[in-house]
Amino acid sequence: MRSPGAARENRHLTNVLLGAWSLLKGLGVTLQNALRPRVTRNYPAVRTHIFPRFRGRLVHKRDEDGRPKCTACLRCEKICPTTAIRDLTGDEKKGRERRVRTYLWAADRCLYCNLCVEDCPFDAIRLSQEYCTVGETREQTHFHLEDLLEPTKKEESP
Ligand code: SF4
Ligand code: SF4
Repeated sequence: MRSPGAARENRHLTNVLLGAWSLLKGLGVTLQNALRPRVTRNYPAVRTHIFPRFRGRLVHKRDEDGRPKCTACLRCEKICPTTAIRDLTGDEKKGRERRVRTYLWAADRCLYCNLCVEDCPFDAIRLSQEYCTVGETREQTHFHLEDLLEPTKKEESP
């Protein structure tokens, strides 16, 4: 019959061996993953590849004179299923001469369904490939006309 001391020593040795084995297994997993090709990107320094059909941040287009194309006809606001388009007002002019004055697009409510773009009779808006519409507060995901207007030709040239 084994003495209690010998049994305790055996148990201790088993635990040491199990611990060493589990340590080696863990190091094996670490090594395996360290040698794998990297799947993450150093965002925002390196931007990810976007597929052509991706729908992102809403953009207001300009006409050849640099004015917003939007005539504040309100169709996009009415068709939007989630009230992501709000506070739409125009200037005092009428019909095609009227121009948008205020416009709010709430990215946190947008489904990127494209209904607003398809229903716009003036081809005044588009969903761009810009995917960064996040913010630390709800208000930071709300974009006003001045944030949504595409740059003028002068602003584009260096
Ligand atoms: S894409 Fe759809 S949900 Fe988003 S603003 Fe346009 S209509 Fe509304
Ligand atoms: S549907 Fe087009 S023109 Fe009419 S308010 Fe919307 S963006 Fe402007």
